[in-house]
Amino acid sequence: MSTSGDGGTLALGLPMAVPAPGLPARVRIHEVGPRDGLQNEKATVPTEVKAEFIRRLADAGLTTIEATSFVHPRWVPQLADAEQLFPQVRDLPVDLPVLVPNTRGLERALALDATRVAVFASATESFAKANLNRTVDEALAMFEPVVRQAKDAGAHVRGYLSMCFGDPWEGQVAVEQVVRVCRALRDMGCDELSLGDTIGVATPGHVGRLLTALNEAGVPTGSLGVHFHDTYGQALANTLAALQHGVTTVDASAGGLGGCPYAKSATGNLATEDLVWMLRGLGIDTGVDLDRLVATSAWMAGQLGRPSPSRTLRALSHKEQ
Ligand code: MG
Repeated sequence: MSTSGDGGTLALGLPMAVPAPGLPARVRIHEVGPRDGLQNEKATVPTEVKAEFIRRLADAGLTTIEATSFVHPRWVPQLADAEQLFPQVRDLPVDLPVLVPNTRGLERALALDATRVAVFASATESFAKANLNRTVDEALAMFEPVVRQAKDAGAHVRGYLSMCFGDPWEGQVAVEQVVRVCRALRDMGCDELSLGDTIGVATPGHVGRLLTALNEAGVPTGSLGVHFHDTYGQALANTLAALQHGVTTVDASAGGLGGCPYAKSATGNLATEDLVWMLRGLGIDTGVDLDRLVATSAWMAGQLGRPSPSRTLRALSHKEQ
C-alpha cells in the first residue's frame, strides 16, 4: 500500500471501511490506559507526564478516559498522586472516571469534584479473596455504601467485574455466577458494568452466552461494557462478538498498556489502536483520530522506555519511516 507521504491521516493509512450487518453505528471507547495501563508500571511516571497523556488522549478524540484511582497510596504506589493529577485534567471536555475502592476513596474523589467513579468487584470467590481478602458477598456489602453515597452525590457509577470468563485459581467460571454478581451490582445502583476477562481466556461463543444470559436476567445490554485482555489473541474476536450482541461500550488501553498481574505473558489490555483499526474497517464511528492516537501511544512508549505491544501501532509506525 502506498502512502501519500505528505503528513496527516492518509499518510498513516486506514483500513477500507466495509460495514458488516448487525453492528452498531457508533461505539464508545472507555480508555483505561492512564489507570489500568499505568497502575502496574514499576518505575514511577511523573504526574506531569500522566496529565499530558490524558490531554493527548482527549485531543485524539477519546471521550471517556479513566484518569486514576483513589486507592490507598500503599496499595498502588504508581497512582499515589491522584490528588495532584486529577485537578490538572478535570476541566478537559471529556468524561474522566476514577476508581474508588471504598468510601474513603470516594470521599477523596468527590472532594476534587469527580463526577464519575468506578468500583472493582469480582465474579469469583478466589479473586475476591486474593484482591480484597473478602468473599464475593462481603465485597458486595463493602461496595454498597460506596455506590449509594456516590449516587447520592450525583455521580455516575461504573462497576467493574473481574474474572467473568475464567479465574487463575478456579479455572472455569459459571455464567450463572457472573449473572448473579452483575444483578447485585445493578440492584445496588451501578449505572454501568464492565465485564472483565482478566486473564484473557474468553472466546467469542462464551462472550455471546454470557451476554445472552445477562439479557435474559434483565440486565440491559446498554448498561454493559466489555473489558477484554489479549493474552491469547482473542480480544478483537471477543469484541466483535460483543458488538453483535448489542454492546456499544468497549474498554481499551492506548498502546496496549497494562498487563494482567496474574498472567505471565506480556500481553494484557486490548490496545485502543487495534480496536480503532477494526472499528474503522467496519465503518463504526468512534470519534477517534487514529493518527493522533498512535502518536500519543508512541510518545508514551518513549516515556516508559519500551515499545508498545499494539500491532496497529507497530504497523503504522513502520509505515511512517
Ligand atoms: Mg485490564
